[in-house]
Amino acid sequence: MRKTIIKRHTVFGNLQVIRECPCPKHAAVKRTYYLVKCLVKNKYGNICGNKIRVRSSQLLSGLPKSCGCLLKLVGERNRAINTRYKYGKHPLMHIFSHMRARCYNKKHPSYKNYGRRGIKICKKWLHDPDSFVIWSMSHGWRFGLTLDRRNNNKNYTPKNCRFIPWKPQQNNRRNNIFYRSNKKIIYTLSELADKYNIKYNYLHRLARREKLGINQALKIIKGKKYHYIQLDGYIAR
Ligand SMILES: [Zn+2]
Repeated sequence: MRKTIIKRHTVFGNLQVIRECPCPKHAAVKRTYYLVKCLVKNKYGNICGNKIRVRSSQLLSGLPKSCGCLLKLVGERNRAINTRYKYGKHPLMHIFSHMRARCYNKKHPSYKNYGRRGIKICKKWLHDPDSFVIWSMSHGWRFGLTLDRRNNNKNYTPKNCRFIPWKPQQNNRRNNIFYRSNKKIIYTLSELADKYNIKYNYLHRLARREKLGINQALKIIKGKKYHYIQLDGYIAR
């Protein structure tokens, strides 16, 4: 393979190439290393300036964003957040900040399924994250449980939220298959599979591929005496 030559002053992430710089440890193997300068600005606006040796393939991948100082900066910023609130260091604060990002941060990958759909956080929680932590601790939160909205189209409020052992990131995806129960609660196919302890693929095959419909599929898998919820036909979105 031809060696890619990287020009001086090229910037990858925050790393600016100074010159090629062979690594003595890897002299035997044909690996190209570059000496780069870290351009990350600290909180006072000064450039880090740290010089490190980076393998060319790593540089080209864009993976290293700094000499390592960026991680330290992020850590400092998080510590500042952690001391602002009484429960700032509580693991629930992590859940809170993700919830807030999904609803209000347009750059969050899940924003389209939350904020753009008009999903909000109730004012009390939004303005007082501590109150969210207090509410959660008295409403069944345990390690490993995830925050879930009972009704996918409604906001994050004490009434609409609960802690469940499923992964809502997968279940709440908008491109999933949706069903509405007679109580107007919306379930995705994977939520139903979890709820009734059925393998997703099995339920999907009966309900969708073999076109039996969700009620018939549940009846076949679980038997007649099983109390499943009556569900509307799927809502494709
Ligand atoms: Zn640096």
